[in-house]
Amino acid sequence: MVACQSCGHSPLKEVIDLGYMPAVNAMHKIGEPVAEEPFFPTIMSVCEECELVQLGGPPPDNSKVFPPDYPYTTASSKPLIENFRQLALEVSEIKPGKHSVLDIGSNDGTLLQAFRDLGHEILGIEPTDVADIAINNGIPTLKRFFNKSLGDRLAGKFDVVTCCNCFAHMPDVNGVVEGIKKILKPDGIFVSESHYLFDLLRDVQYDTIYHEHLRFYSINSLAYLLKQHNMSIFDVKYIPIHGGSIRVYAQTVKTSKSTEWNFAVNGEPKRDDLYRALNEFAERVVISRRQFWADWLGEMVGIGAPSRGTILINYLGLNHNDIRCVAEREGSLKIGRYIPGTRIPVVAEDFALEQKPDYALILSWHMADAIMQNWRGKDYKGKFIIPLPLPRVI
Ligand SMILES: [Zn+2]
Repeated sequence: MVACQSCGHSPLKEVIDLGYMPAVNAMHKIGEPVAEEPFFPTIMSVCEECELVQLGGPPPDNSKVFPPDYPYTTASSKPLIENFRQLALEVSEIKPGKHSVLDIGSNDGTLLQAFRDLGHEILGIEPTDVADIAINNGIPTLKRFFNKSLGDRLAGKFDVVTCCNCFAHMPDVNGVVEGIKKILKPDGIFVSESHYLFDLLRDVQYDTIYHEHLRFYSINSLAYLLKQHNMSIFDVKYIPIHGGSIRVYAQTVKTSKSTEWNFAVNGEPKRDDLYRALNEFAERVVISRRQFWADWLGEMVGIGAPSRGTILINYLGLNHNDIRCVAEREGSLKIGRYIPGTRIPVVAEDFALEQKPDYALILSWHMADAIMQNWRGKDYKGKFIIPLPLPRVI
């Protein structure tokens, strides 16, 4: 059973299941021979103990999610360069003087460059080949994943540790926080930037639910996580990066009441209000998807689960939000299983008919006439969709 990545509580409560999705940055090159491409379960869940919204389901292999030829670089985005310049300035104001700065997930070194321009000492950690760009630009960078053992090696060396758009990406987040605590000097500060949960919910950004994003932080869930390691938040800034993010400042030493972040004015939904917001989000995701398929707006089931139906469904990008279930004749061994590559369940015909769907997609379309006759005979009142050679509604 999958346990909460922060507090270890289980089971997690499911918010929405997007079905199986491929790793979004494992991009095969045009012209290369066709290769196997893995798909992974893609579920958003919430922990009812610490309220962390997170990727449910088994975590995929990191090397598949972050391939060595990872195609994303920071310097390709102007707003990000400006954001990082602001961050370096802000840190210099909060903590005057010259510092040693470590950036975890330093990408092409854009943030570290901004710190160096202000006279700070810098070091980056970046596991992908993007590190080579930084190294070629003279930004000292360790090409590897950040973990506890690296924390041991760099213990007590840094005044500032930053982790921007990767603090939600790393597995074993408790080990990561312990490592960060270790490398910070006693009065050091930790700055993270992460996509903000409530912006994601507000704008139905379900397209950000993928395997690199293991956690979707609210300030509350982030505070809970850090508190488990005796770290506390002392400032938060809302920034417009990536469709709405939070920049969160934390430190190890106990903050006095006057400097601790004021959660009372923060006003994030909690408990039942949070779960209501998450449910509403899940409903809006499905509505948004259906709007896209407006021609077929309404409840749809499939008829028949032939091998060819698997290809049709995957090729059209249909999932269980579009097709509630696929009907097979009683006695079929396929009943009780999923259509491959999806979470669409195969059910007995009578169960599908009881749903009184608006549309029935005939997957064994080469036998459409017989199937339509059979279903009309069972009092089906909705329409039929015959998908090929061109979709027809009857
Ligand atoms: Zn939890």
